[in-house]
Amino acid sequence: MIHQDLQAALNSQINQEFCAAYNYLGMATYFDAQNLDGFASWMQMQHNEEQAHAMKLLRYLQDRGGQVKLESIGSPRSEFGSPLDIFKLSLEQEQKNTASINDLYELATRLNDHATKSHLQWFIDEQVEEEKSVEDIIALLTRIGDDTAGLLYLDDKLGARQAEQVPV
Ligand code: MG
Repeated sequence: MIHQDLQAALNSQINQEFCAAYNYLGMATYFDAQNLDGFASWMQMQHNEEQAHAMKLLRYLQDRGGQVKLESIGSPRSEFGSPLDIFKLSLEQEQKNTASINDLYELATRLNDHATKSHLQWFIDEQVEEEKSVEDIIALLTRIGDDTAGLLYLDDKLGARQAEQVPV
């Protein structure tokens, strides 16, 4: 049986992953409305990945005999100033997520829950990738500035992203 504190923290993380998914979906719809299909597709993939993260944690909690408690998800933002603003918000979201995964790992360590630590290791590694990919795009958008040709080039590049399979 999983410790009550860890169960509560996992439920909170499940909610956070679903919120992140919904926020990315809001960003995808914004880009779609701007006819930036590559950016929209990239954000849609982020949405799918975050949902898969939530489900991976949800199944884990169930496998451990824990009780899943689904919390409400707020409306995502759908109006933004610029693509750069959106990716800065994405980075903030990812950094917040990294911090809460780390907190979860520390709690599992304090409670000597080795199985949860092992499960969370995948998320810790995944967050390194998540932050890096958003930081790379921020760097490119900063260089592009107001150059429309640069923005359309990046739109093409992001549109070529292949969906990754999140292991169950
Ligand atoms: Mg995630």
